[in-house]
Amino acid sequence: MPKTGDTPDLATPSPPAHGARPGGLAAMRRRLEVQELRLKAVLDSLSQGLSLYDSEARLVLCNQQFLDIYRLPPECGTPGTTFRQILEARIAGNTHVGDDAEDYVADRLGVATARRALGAIHRLNSGQMISVTHQPMADGGWVSTHKDVTELHNLQAELTHLAYHDPLTGLPNRTLFYRRIGAAFDELARHPGLAVLCLDLDGFKPINDTIGHAAGDVLLRQFAARLAACLGPDDTVARMGGDEFAVLHRGTSETACALASRIGEATHAPFELDGRVVSVAVGIGIAVAGRDGAETDALLHSADLALYAAKRDGRGGIRSFDPELDRAETDRRRIEVELKHAIAMQQFELHFQPILDLGTEAFAGFEALLRWRHPERGMVPPGDFIPVAEATGMILPLGEWVIREALAEAARWPADLRVAVNVSSVQLVRGNLPTILTQALAHSGIAPGRVEIEITESVFLANSDESLETLRRLRALGVRVALDDFGTGYSALGYLLAFPFDKIKIDGTFVRALSSAESARTIVSAVADIGARLGMQTTAEGIEDAEQLRAVHAMGYSEAQGYLIARPMPREAVRRLLTAAFDRMPEAPHERVAG
Ligand code: C2E
Ligand code: MG
Ligand code: MG
Repeated sequence: MPKTGDTPDLATPSPPAHGARPGGLAAMRRRLEVQELRLKAVLDSLSQGLSLYDSEARLVLCNQQFLDIYRLPPECGTPGTTFRQILEARIAGNTHVGDDAEDYVADRLGVATARRALGAIHRLNSGQMISVTHQPMADGGWVSTHKDVTELHNLQAELTHLAYHDPLTGLPNRTLFYRRIGAAFDELARHPGLAVLCLDLDGFKPINDTIGHAAGDVLLRQFAARLAACLGPDDTVARMGGDEFAVLHRGTSETACALASRIGEATHAPFELDGRVVSVAVGIGIAVAGRDGAETDALLHSADLALYAAKRDGRGGIRSFDPELDRAETDRRRIEVELKHAIAMQQFELHFQPILDLGTEAFAGFEALLRWRHPERGMVPPGDFIPVAEATGMILPLGEWVIREALAEAARWPADLRVAVNVSSVQLVRGNLPTILTQALAHSGIAPGRVEIEITESVFLANSDESLETLRRLRALGVRVALDDFGTGYSALGYLLAFPFDKIKIDGTFVRALSSAESARTIVSAVADIGARLGMQTTAEGIEDAEQLRAVHAMGYSEAQGYLIARPMPREAVRRLLTAAFDRMPEAPHERVAG
């Protein structure tokens, strides 16, 4: 047997050196036994399994780890055991690879005769993952090492799973979802029909806030399960974060809409969380590949815009993308950029619209209405930019300016005239309004009772507890609070009981419908009665003709406001009006329309 360098040949113990002491045969045998024991100790101390075969594919030696890894009986470790016998023992112990035992034996024998160095990870039928190296030796045999890497492999698989899945629901996460859409786009030619649905739960936050995050988690898991049950076999659902989910649907825009309805239905049934029953709704935006987006980002963006629109429609809305949404979004972005600039450049001004006291027939005060004097587009009405200012938080500095400006202006008017200021729900929740008003009152020196804050019903939709708390603190300052645009929002009479408003302002749309719709007359008149019974003042907005004025007067409204009386006007016009009309009767005010 050829020997390479000084490496001791493990296969056969070295013959005794020349000149060994005669009669030392027994001693030599002992030495050999000792050597063998040492070798075995070394082999068994290895962390890996090791096996060595000769050129006839017979085992020369192996260690205990080798036998353990493959669950081989001790006799398999006897030198001289053939490779085939070992393979057969592995088949018996189910530590082979693949279903076909004969194939497996042929394959391994092939590797042995190929005489090439190899390294691979084998997944055994027992489930173990074994890292194997195969190294041919110069004598025609080979040595192989075997390491059980099952745990490492599982850990890696777990890490990979974690990187691509949401731990709470077990659903794919945003990263995996993006990949799946990318893959779906790649095979779109072969497998057409791809749509994305963006979903967002309505009413999740209050549940999470009131009954706790643990219950919120249960709700999300239950919702995820219902969602998964709605899908087709090729669809994927992912949790994008918080209460946002998304579905990749393989199908047409029609099947996507049908899927959205199924999801809406499935969400409809109440959820039971630790004995409590709660209900939520789901807003869904749909975008179809090709028509609404030619790649992942564009498609998701379109589905997102559709979702915003669906949420604007109210609880449980479903919307498909349409290019108009994109234009609106572009407008919104442009306004956002311009608004920032406008705040810096002080392009805003306040106009004031008189409010007529129907009892005294004198002005009760003025409502401050914000105007944006745009350098190119002229006067921009608040409806065009306030929603953007609210969505971006820019309403906070802007609203603060309105309050300071309005109170400072009112300080120049006779002391019995009020000033009304509109505030948005964003200001009530995040705006630090009590402090701002305290400062503005101190700065202007006007009595708190001359200031009226107008809020709309939207305040009751989000964070109503915080909003009500702010309203109470404003009231504690002595400031009055009015409920604006009554009847247009989600109109629950309960809102009137939630807070003791000083005034209800019925929306102009009802007043304008007085002559055409009998139901409008009923509503307008009922609101006057409700106000009277609750001890709240009532203002009829949007009075454009004398008939309307007479009608609301007859119904018992305390105040009226509208183009008939006067349009909103710049502060200089108010000053002129007030100095001209000492008795402050509403005669010939500036910009008055013919009635
Ligand atoms: P609002 O508080 O209900 O104000 C009344 C709106 O009706 C004003 O529109 C006013 O110009 C208009 N109006 C008054 N009389 C008539 C009439 O006879 N016929 C018709 N068709 N309209 C009439 P404007 O100034 O465009 O304001 C729209 C809304 O923007 C306001 O509704 C208010 O909700 C909001 N807004 C205005 N200024 C501010 C502000 O400083 N802060 C906040 N948060 N919102 C504001
Ligand atoms: Mg108002
Ligand atoms: Mg109004």
